[in-house]
Amino acid sequence: MKRKEKGRVELERVHTVEAAQNIFTKEEVGIEGDFYPFLVGYHQEEDYTLFLLALKDLDRIYWILAIRKVCAYNRNIRSYFHPAPWNGRKWSCCKKTTKLIDGCQECDSWIPSQTSSPSRDSISESLSNKENFNSSQSSPIMPGGGTPGTPSGKQKDDQSSTTPRSKVVVALYNYKAIETGDLSLEKNMEYEVIDDSQKHWWKVRDSKGMIGFIPSNYVKEKELLGLQQYDWYVNDMSRQRSESLLKHEDKEGCFVVRNSSTKGLYTLSLYTKIPHPHVKHYHIKKNGKGEFFLSEKHCCNSIPELINYHKHNSGGLASRLKTSPCDRPAPATAGLSHDKWEIDHSELMLLDELGSGQFGVVRRGKWRGTTDVAVKMMKEGTMSEDDFIEEAKVMTKLQHPNLVQLYGVCSKNRPIFIVTEYMRHGSLLNYLRRHEQSLSTNQGLLLDMCIQICKGMAYLERHNYIHRDLAARNCLVGTENIVKVADFGLARYVLDDQYTSSGGSKFPIKWAPPEVLNYTRFSSKSDVWAYGVLMWEVFTCGKMPYGRMKNSEVVERVQKGIILEKPKACFKEVYDVMKKCWAPLPENRPSFRILKDTLINVSQGILVD
Ligand code: ADP
Repeated sequence: MKRKEKGRVELERVHTVEAAQNIFTKEEVGIEGDFYPFLVGYHQEEDYTLFLLALKDLDRIYWILAIRKVCAYNRNIRSYFHPAPWNGRKWSCCKKTTKLIDGCQECDSWIPSQTSSPSRDSISESLSNKENFNSSQSSPIMPGGGTPGTPSGKQKDDQSSTTPRSKVVVALYNYKAIETGDLSLEKNMEYEVIDDSQKHWWKVRDSKGMIGFIPSNYVKEKELLGLQQYDWYVNDMSRQRSESLLKHEDKEGCFVVRNSSTKGLYTLSLYTKIPHPHVKHYHIKKNGKGEFFLSEKHCCNSIPELINYHKHNSGGLASRLKTSPCDRPAPATAGLSHDKWEIDHSELMLLDELGSGQFGVVRRGKWRGTTDVAVKMMKEGTMSEDDFIEEAKVMTKLQHPNLVQLYGVCSKNRPIFIVTEYMRHGSLLNYLRRHEQSLSTNQGLLLDMCIQICKGMAYLERHNYIHRDLAARNCLVGTENIVKVADFGLARYVLDDQYTSSGGSKFPIKWAPPEVLNYTRFSSKSDVWAYGVLMWEVFTCGKMPYGRMKNSEVVERVQKGIILEKPKACFKEVYDVMKKCWAPLPENRPSFRILKDTLINVSQGILVD
């Protein structure tokens, strides 16, 4: 049946198997008689739900139990689910408009009545003989497919005999537990995972038996650790960022290994001062025997072995490999602790002013004396606070290396504070203007900034989140030239008409596509238009789009289809991408996912890896 296959769900990825709400019409499903829907939720890079129909209620129960049985030992089994589908705008069951929000209904228990792991064969045997399968259930079946009297939690605290194998993770960074209930992590140490049902905070046990929550992006499953256990491996870092990092370290023989822009390959980036300070990039190649090499004379079975060899022998490289950059920054956590989004005023120490904007002053701060944060002190009356506070709970769960992390809010006092990740180099717009001289000659770095922003936007697009005010002034720059998108979704809560209505003096007209100017119709595709303008800002090192032109003239131009001119220091291929973002009709603009792939291809075509 391979030819007809449209997709597959791996059993290990299933986290939810439940009866679904029957909101489907007979016309929709094309079935004459009765039908009984159920759903299978699984995680494959992101969450998906497969809705299935049984023709009899009893069949539905059999299917649910059968699938749960073969998945009973999965690691990610959820406690809550949505019993009806996401319709593109909201959940059909609870009407919540945020796709990422936790399920609105508690799941049934999956705990199987047998103590040993059931084999798939035994299930198929059972399915072909329903009597036999049914009798293997020790409890009567409840509506929705559960069994009464069993706990619904999916945690494995009790180490019961139903836990056949535990997941062991290794800490990639140190983490200092501050909030009660959290657990500190020590880099390279192992931890046993007890509960990974929440996406961003897992409950783990350390080697001394201490249990607590840790940020899930600080650890990696031991079996999947691969090169990540080595300090010299920097994952997806681009050529340009690796150059900045190594030049900043300024040490002879300092090196990193990174994923090459060609999938599956790796590149060694090495800093040398001879004859002048520069970075050399070498592809790590593989020979016919599967051995790795930098120069064909010295082949090794693995990349770590190869690195070790070249630590002792330059073997044709510009220098022997000596050190790798230390003290690399740890990523931001989704919230400052598990389930924490309300932050206590008294735990924030406010330091210097970072800038001020539309909503008020932004100050650098320390949370509980240790964690760097930025605190946006919201001028009273500038935003609909209650709605925002509600939304903030969800926004803390949006986590991506190219999005400024929202840690939470202080909403008990006025003015309210929005607490986010601190970004050392401030707004991208000012950064571009400040560093115009060095940046304007480094198109690779500019393109890399655009790709980073595109990655953050592709994440928002995937989660049906619209930014509404994407521009260089709303992106921030951190250490190691990392660029992140900030202030996503905030525009919805602004009360100032001058900002929200397209005729208002503060409305970002120069970043708005025709459908926003005409009908205030925002979508991910209106974000794509703004992204094109942002690319233009990047490649002009922070020029004002359309110069001093009045808003009314800009509107007239956009309506006529006149677009921004090609920035001087910009490859034609890059300008072609901007032009795609400025297609007059939103449906003709590419998605961020496509844009990201296109930009990566462009960078491979015009730059060397
Ligand atoms: P508003 O949203 O009120 O217009 P901004 O977000 O534009 O305010 O912030 C104003 C300035 O404060 C920015 O230009 C930037 O220089 C600084 N800033 C804002 N957030 C951060 C942050 N997370 N880290 C560092 N600097 C920041």
